[in-house]
Amino acid sequence: MLQQLISAEEIEARTREIAAEIRRDFGDEELVLIAVLKGSFIFVADLCRHLGGDVKVDFVQTSSYGAEKSSSGVVQIRKDLDTNIEGKNVVVVEDIIDTGLTLSHLLQVWQTRKPKAIKVATLLSKPAARTHPMNVDYIGFEIPKKFVVGYGLDHGDRYRNLPFVAELVDEASA
Ligand code: 5GP
Repeated sequence: MLQQLISAEEIEARTREIAAEIRRDFGDEELVLIAVLKGSFIFVADLCRHLGGDVKVDFVQTSSYGAEKSSSGVVQIRKDLDTNIEGKNVVVVEDIIDTGLTLSHLLQVWQTRKPKAIKVATLLSKPAARTHPMNVDYIGFEIPKKFVVGYGLDHGDRYRNLPFVAELVDEASA
């Protein structure tokens, strides 16, 4: 069962605000948006259209193995960047930051490539779930430790096409 948490209108308004915040920080300089697949494909599509100006978009895909396979957690990069980010203004675009494992690993890797600046934008953040603390520059919405779907986020590859964000509630516990 789905329980709507954030409406399409709220997402649209907040995405515009984040785009304005990013442009305030970078002026009209060229930006490279790096979207972390698959979940951020809708957020990055909307964000880049609100940003305007000189914007490039690239994609990465990771797979992470949590505590059940490794005590520290390992992030594997399945598809790396096509873009050389040396000297570039980079904004990493995430759908959701949960433990922070994925992003902290990616940031470590990309810092070695000497970008001019690297900032992080996420539509959703679950601060109570964070085990890998990091600085997040642009946050759409902070949400509790619930499993959410919609607006790019899936469960078993379903629900990505919902225009809103909803909590996926177990029928039995509802
Ligand atoms: P982290 O490395 O921060 O723990 O996890 C980030 C990734 O876990 C996200 O990019 C997303 O793929 C997945 N994830 C974390 N929380 C949720 C959630 O509530 N719903 C969905 N659909 N995916 C989530």
